Amino acid sequence: MPMAVDSLQSSKQVCVVGAGPSGLISARELLKEGHSVVVLEQNHDLGGQWLYQDADATATVHSSVYASLRVNAPRTSMEFTDFMFTPVEGRDARNFPCHRELFLYLKDFARCFGLTELIRFNTEVVHVGLATPTHKWIVRSRDRRTDGGEFAEEIFDAVVVATGPFSLPRLPKIRGMEEWKRKQLHCHVYRIPDPFQDEVVVVVGGSISGPEIALELVHVAKEVHISTKNVEIPEKLVKPVAKHAHLHWHQEIELLCEDGTVVFADGSSVVADTILYCTGYSYSFPFLDTKGIIHVDENRIGPLYEHTFPPSLAPSLSFVGIPNKFIIFRFLESQARWIAQVLSGKRKLPSADELMKAIEEVERHQKLEEPKNFIQLAAELLEVMASLPSNNS
Ligand SMILES: Cc1cc2nc3c(=O)[nH]c(=O)nc-3n(C[C@H](O)[C@H](O)[C@H](O)COP(=O)(O)OP(=O)(O)OC[C@H]3O[C@@H](n4cnc5c(N)ncnc54)[C@H](O)[C@@H]3O)c2cc1C
Repeated sequence: MPMAVDSLQSSKQVCVVGAGPSGLISARELLKEGHSVVVLEQNHDLGGQWLYQDADATATVHSSVYASLRVNAPRTSMEFTDFMFTPVEGRDARNFPCHRELFLYLKDFARCFGLTELIRFNTEVVHVGLATPTHKWIVRSRDRRTDGGEFAEEIFDAVVVATGPFSLPRLPKIRGMEEWKRKQLHCHVYRIPDPFQDEVVVVVGGSISGPEIALELVHVAKEVHISTKNVEIPEKLVKPVAKHAHLHWHQEIELLCEDGTVVFADGSSVVADTILYCTGYSYSFPFLDTKGIIHVDENRIGPLYEHTFPPSLAPSLSFVGIPNKFIIFRFLESQARWIAQVLSGKRKLPSADELMKAIEEVERHQKLEEPKNFIQLAAELLEVMASLPSNNS
């Protein structure tokens, strides 16, 4: 039975770290390729960002999703290829549904394809390192339910890292930040507007969350001041600022003073109760030990070929869901399928040298180019997807 021997040889023991959308689709694609899969998830349930978690300024939570958040793309654009995100009776049938609806979709997806039983919940991965000379991976994890945590150590042929890029708050460096004694928090722990009732709030950041949260705060706060890097008022803020007399736009913060004054680069100032930083997230993989082969700084992890494979550790180490500007589920699916098929031997990767050269080429172009807007990023991502295995293969 040569076929059976072949498929046995190409079947790997794979550990997926994280049971968010990236981890779930990875598990599904790995199963389809005949691999044996274990998913380790630190939380008590699956869903990643879409598992809503209450939070206060001190809580350590994974999800950054706030209570009123609705998905920012039509539901059909968020589904995986063979599992439609159609409205379910009695649930949120809107085209841009609330976060819980996406969570329920992911639960249904996992149940439908037998993924839930592969997940070990409350299991935080604390170490992923090479087991030399076998070229396998040692994965150490901690059971979060026990006091101090019980540790387990396992060996896998391959590890897929799917821990998401939106959980470690990135804060700007502002003169006087240390001395400013009032409330400063990051939107990672923002959930509802009520605690900001009658306050003067400065929201820092003009990307997606900043304006969205500012427009929510406007209904309860005394004043909302939104500060962005722009020299002129960004187009998306023109109408809201005209509509709400107590919503103001400012340039960047120049200085924070001990008495609560916030001084902006345009010379204006305000005495505020709270500063809410909507200033993005940093990459963080505290469990990863690659002996310096992979570098992680706040904006970048590399070298990674097509955001997925580190050349000298490929294909036994891979990443799904790294791009943090634009994530669409079909992109995660293409990455997952590619990894599963490379691990089974169905697809081949170029040599490590060739992968490295391709990465350097992309980096050279990036350095020469202007910063990109969202449409350009989406187009670029679609281009990358086109080079990965098609969603029907
Ligand atoms: C506020 C906000 C709004 C967003 N809105 C949209 C939107 O409208 N549309 C859209 O497409 N995307 C949106 N996103 C992007 C969102 O992150 C992705 O949709 C998706 O959740 C990414 O999936 P992921 O699995 O890569 O990461 P995550 O969803 O972050 O999942 C990662 C999982 O890994 C687990 N994990 C982390 N570290 C460990 C560890 N050491 N051990 C074990 N488990 C671990 C986490 O607990 C989590 O379950 C939004 C993100 C944020 C923050």
